[in-house]
Amino acid sequence: MTITASFYKITKSSLATLFAEQKQKGNTIIDLSGNGSDLSKSCKALFFPATEKVLEYKIVDKGVAEVKPDNFNDETKAVNRFIFGANICDAYALKVVGPVFGEGPVDRFFINKREATIVAAILCDNKKNACFCDQIIPRSDYSNAADLVFTEFDENSWAVRSNNNRSIDFFGNGFLHFIEDNTLKELFDKKEEKLFNSENPEEINYFPKLEALKKFIEKNFNSEIFNDASMNCIGCATCTYSCPTCHCFDIVDEKKYYNGERRKNWDSCAFSLFTLHASGHNPREYQGQRWRQRLLHKFSIYKDRFDKIACVGCGRCIRLCPAGVNMLEMFEKWKISIDHM
Ligand code: SF4
Ligand code: SF4
Repeated sequence: MTITASFYKITKSSLATLFAEQKQKGNTIIDLSGNGSDLSKSCKALFFPATEKVLEYKIVDKGVAEVKPDNFNDETKAVNRFIFGANICDAYALKVVGPVFGEGPVDRFFINKREATIVAAILCDNKKNACFCDQIIPRSDYSNAADLVFTEFDENSWAVRSNNNRSIDFFGNGFLHFIEDNTLKELFDKKEEKLFNSENPEEINYFPKLEALKKFIEKNFNSEIFNDASMNCIGCATCTYSCPTCHCFDIVDEKKYYNGERRKNWDSCAFSLFTLHASGHNPREYQGQRWRQRLLHKFSIYKDRFDKIACVGCGRCIRLCPAGVNMLEMFEKWKISIDHM
């Protein structure tokens, strides 16, 4: 589908005024731009919090539970909000995980938040340590990843690409602060070109073709390579918790006397308890099997199920791993080539 984008300019002071006006009207503005180059957190938790109440209950009589709220929709209501300053890869990750929450049984907790939120991302100027988004995100999807994409025009103003009309609906007359200027398309094209052609600071010169990587992981299901690669892994789940596309959760009941809450909590395939059966059997007994699952899910199973790779190349799992586990180094070591297809 071809998206017709429009381009605007807005001064930084006008944007600040717009945000102040919106807050006065009771609209929620979440400004992530202050994080600067701190790429440790994605915006995932704003849609899929680490822990979230699903319902409350009360034991009223002989094990009979009364569930609150009576109307489930009350619990999933989301406030309208504008997120400014997301990373492009994190905005794209919301599209990647969208089908998990939106297809089949719809997860209203995620979907209502997504529908009530405008995401404005800032175009990256260059790749940070361990970034490989350019190897994963299709170039045609890059600037379409968010509702709005900002890039600095000069010290005092932003150039803005709008991919849909959602911001006009959100800001109403406030959108008049944005001055249309479709010549700015060229600036976006140039900056994207620069990003896609820039060197990775860690000199990652090798990344396999995604189809070859998929086949390689599938074909080596029973080999030792995953055990060898994850020998350092301590199963801390930093990689999955910081990953913008990891979306596994567990449903738990937190009960106190006769009252309780049912909560949806992040879970992780890195944990040894993740697949432990009630019988005591664990089909993924070793960390290597868990690592194999992480790669299989991201680069094979998810592709088969949703026609997308469940990785956006943000590099967080590499930058933040306390044990130095690095999937790019694994791929390089495995020398995955077209022969593996
Ligand atoms: S962050 Fe590193 S050590 Fe922790 S689970 Fe992931 S790979 Fe293992
Ligand atoms: S797998 Fe690693 S590089 Fe890929 S999106 Fe998750 S954290 Fe980022």
